[in-house]
Amino acid sequence: MGQEQILYVVIPCYNEEEVLKKTSKRLEEKLTSLIQNHRIGKESRVFFVDDGSKDDTWQMIKKLHQDSPLFSGICLTRNRGHQNALLAGLLTAKDKADIMISMDADLQDDVDAIDAMLDAYETGCDIVYGVRNNRDSDSFFKRNTAQLFYRLTNLLGGELVYNHADFRLMSRRAVKALEEYREVNLFLRGIVPMIGYKTTVVEYSRSPRAAGKSKYPLKKMVSFAMEGITSLSIKPMQVLTWLGVAVFTLSLFMLVYIFARHLTGHTVVGWSSVAVSVWAIGGLQLLGLGLIGEYIGKIYLEVKARPRYLIEENLEEE
Ligand code: UDP
Ligand code: MG
Repeated sequence: MGQEQILYVVIPCYNEEEVLKKTSKRLEEKLTSLIQNHRIGKESRVFFVDDGSKDDTWQMIKKLHQDSPLFSGICLTRNRGHQNALLAGLLTAKDKADIMISMDADLQDDVDAIDAMLDAYETGCDIVYGVRNNRDSDSFFKRNTAQLFYRLTNLLGGELVYNHADFRLMSRRAVKALEEYREVNLFLRGIVPMIGYKTTVVEYSRSPRAAGKSKYPLKKMVSFAMEGITSLSIKPMQVLTWLGVAVFTLSLFMLVYIFARHLTGHTVVGWSSVAVSVWAIGGLQLLGLGLIGEYIGKIYLEVKARPRYLIEENLEEE
């Protein structure tokens, strides 16, 4: 590679004051050594995105920026969620960076995997997925629900990279392509594989969170999974149609059966079967309505095309 490439490590942060010091120190060491070895250009940065934190996260980022030009970042006007924060970071960084690596603030992603990612980039890959090679650091519950989620989305036609979260390298042109995907309901893991270009994976082992608590409690995890599935696929609605066809066919048989019973004079039997079908069909209808509502809600949000994030402050523009 001719000229040294500029790398921005983009890190969304939501209430991460407990871990920020550790993370910034670790990344400072890494980037400094990469710069010294001429693997990346001197203008490379650790680029924080403060996602409307309520603690001192932004103050700490500003302090880091004052003390060293290696650190910079932006601050969103309010909490917009991990995916939007990451997008804000990538789209802002791409004006200056040739290469962007996104990672979490809690050091769960292996900083040393950056070397392997850069190797892959140098052999011509535009997107390099960080894929964890074990889930030992996860709880039993998280491990299994995550497994279920991947299976389900792939079954429904999403193209997720197995065991890949949002630790990935993207070239500038890949991020520019990502910008063309204008959806408000953003699920980056599902969209990035749609971009194309030459891609590869780099394995790493995921550590436990370095400090602080997970910002993804069960409720957020469930809504994240729902978001993922309904953003990527309309199969659930198609399944619903088939379910409707099946239930209707069944009811035709029931009709014949009931008529036969009527003719043979057994009219007032079967309270239980009636009660059961009322519940079953009522349940199915509610499920169906809910699911359709889910998609209509999405259409509503997409049609409005509200901004996905707003930047309040950019440390690189002062
Ligand atoms: N995050 C964010 N906005 C949010 C929630 C989380 O920017 O509303 C960031 C968080 O600071 C972290 C990353 O997203 O850098 C992943 O969150 P976390 O580590 O809490 O998730 P987990 O690893 O437990 O799934
Ligand atoms: Mg984490």
